[in-house]
Amino acid sequence: MTPAFDKVRQLLRGLPGVGHRSAERLALHLLVERPAKLAPLVEALREAAAAVGRCARCGNLAEGGACSVCADPRRDPSLLCVVENVPDLLALERTASFRGTYHVLHGRLSPINGVGPGELNLASLGARLVAEPVTEVVLALGNDIEGEATCHYIRESFLATRLGTKVTRIGFGLPSGSGLTFADAETLRSSLEGRRDVAP
Ligand SMILES: [Zn+2]
Repeated sequence: MTPAFDKVRQLLRGLPGVGHRSAERLALHLLVERPAKLAPLVEALREAAAAVGRCARCGNLAEGGACSVCADPRRDPSLLCVVENVPDLLALERTASFRGTYHVLHGRLSPINGVGPGELNLASLGARLVAEPVTEVVLALGNDIEGEATCHYIRESFLATRLGTKVTRIGFGLPSGSGLTFADAETLRSSLEGRRDVAP
């Protein structure tokens, strides 16, 4: 190959879910086979990089102010679902059975990987629980060790003294450690409906 081609292939290889062979196919496709697709893709990436940010309220993807969930007046502000990342939020939205709002942590506690509370979108969760009329917090985090530790931290830090707020947990019945993103909509829907009370 050529140095410039190798550089593109290398950068694509660094993306999540893209292995060596996929990176090669993508680079060939965009640079040689279908070069007409390249300019619109580069332009769309440039525009998105400038426009897409985080919703100040919940951390979901947004352009400008509030995300599409927070901007929807039909969403129930008393029901708040905490998720690890945006793909988990999208997976729950695909079930079309959750009508509350979300809070996206952008990760979970993982001391071994240097992820502490300060690295997560937690301060704004505390602020929301003070400012908003939340009566139920749904902890929709994975049921592996890091997911459990993150739930524990949230309960201890924000919910232990908040009397009258119901705390529920989903994740039971989901494949252990795989998180929500890869669960099918039906599994997620029944996990959501069967969410269990946990002590705040
Ligand atoms: Zn939002």
